[in-house]
Amino acid sequence: MMLPRPFRFQVLACVLLVLLFAAWRAGGQNSATPLVIEHVTVVDSSGKSPVAGSRVTIHSGRIAAVGLAAGPLPQGARVVDGRGKYLVPGLWDMHVHLDMVGPSALGLLVANGVTGVRDLGGDFAQVRAMRDQVNRGALIGPRIRTAGTILETPRFLGVLRMLAGQLEEPFDEALEGMAGERIAVATPEAARAAVAKLADAGADCIKFRSVVSLEVLRALAEEASRHGLVLVGHTPAGISAAEAAEAGQRSFEHSLVHPGSLEIEDEAAMIERLRRAEAVVVPTLVTVQASRLLSAEEQRARIDDVRGRLDARRRYVSEELLAHWRLQMRLDEFESPADWREHHEASLELLQRLHRAGVTILPGTDLGARFIYPGWSLHDELELLVSEVGMTPAEALQAATLLPARHFGIEDELGTVEPGKRADLVLLDASPLESIANTRRIRAVVLGGRYLDSRALRRLREDAVRSPTP
Ligand SMILES: [Zn+2]
Repeated sequence: MMLPRPFRFQVLACVLLVLLFAAWRAGGQNSATPLVIEHVTVVDSSGKSPVAGSRVTIHSGRIAAVGLAAGPLPQGARVVDGRGKYLVPGLWDMHVHLDMVGPSALGLLVANGVTGVRDLGGDFAQVRAMRDQVNRGALIGPRIRTAGTILETPRFLGVLRMLAGQLEEPFDEALEGMAGERIAVATPEAARAAVAKLADAGADCIKFRSVVSLEVLRALAEEASRHGLVLVGHTPAGISAAEAAEAGQRSFEHSLVHPGSLEIEDEAAMIERLRRAEAVVVPTLVTVQASRLLSAEEQRARIDDVRGRLDARRRYVSEELLAHWRLQMRLDEFESPADWREHHEASLELLQRLHRAGVTILPGTDLGARFIYPGWSLHDELELLVSEVGMTPAEALQAATLLPARHFGIEDELGTVEPGKRADLVLLDASPLESIANTRRIRAVVLGGRYLDSRALRRLREDAVRSPTP
């Protein structure tokens, strides 16, 4: 059908606008155009000293060269003045639950310099859809490595369902739904079958929250390793962390001690065995600080703080995330009172000893948990690793960059500012080695070679506030 001229013009204008918008969404910069960051101080995170006056050339999504800012620039390059700025590798949040936040989390993470996340399970279909859209370039978001579905003991799933039966709307359905997304594993055979199924469905690692026995844990680890996947879990109840690490658990989430049972027999031996097994600990300290140490009234005030008076970041919280926060508060009423302060302090002291002994500790926020804000809370966690665990700023930076890449076995692809690696970078206005708090002072983010300047980052934050809840 032929449209009258004025209409044709309008249609054309609309098409142009859509194309322009799509070009902006794609980062506004063609990856075929080389990007050069000039006169920048490179803090490459490999352990080398920072190098001032550097030129970093990025081409086709990768770091093409890192050297001194001298000689001719590549033809047609986009040049960014890096004077007085610091270039670090993109940061990883090693413990998130993207399904609890929804797609609005993706832009917020990137705007905060988080270019990679390890998603530790939930609604696999939803997270897989996000991962696919990010990989296709349809959505701007961090690299997503996901466990997909959480594995549990049948007993724990039974408890979840029983609790759901005691709750009122809308919490009953939410909790029932959460139980339905998890897989119960009772035997080594079931463990192998569950891992094979998840590997087939595209999981990047395997995660258990609870596990019935060392035998089942070993079966999970063996099957995961057969598929080239890492086994991640909470510190199992009734199994020593050292035994779990030797059986193949590569990552311990939250604390190595459970509230109410803070004793560890022969701690020195445990630390040595964890270190030798190359297990990592992801303590998610910010979660305890953000909610467990607050009273119920303080927590309610934060949830109801629609205008963000108590915390400006509250404005960016999606409705789905708020629903999870409310459910978590309701579930607190069923918990036996534990002294979180005592537990937290014991846990911190243990972490200091682990760190001094050379056990790898990685930053994770447990995004999805109360008062954890996409991206922002990772910087809180980095500060806690310095102030409470005793890391130097350089160590904390490495824990968010190189060490996650090493944990996944993708050190040749990501984790430092070196030629050949994928260009996931953050340009900072101040040195992160002077104060780790300076990782918040983000001037720009390079995501797979695409340069997102401060305007693009602001747009990502604004889009997140506007994005409708699916
Ligand atoms: Zn979690």
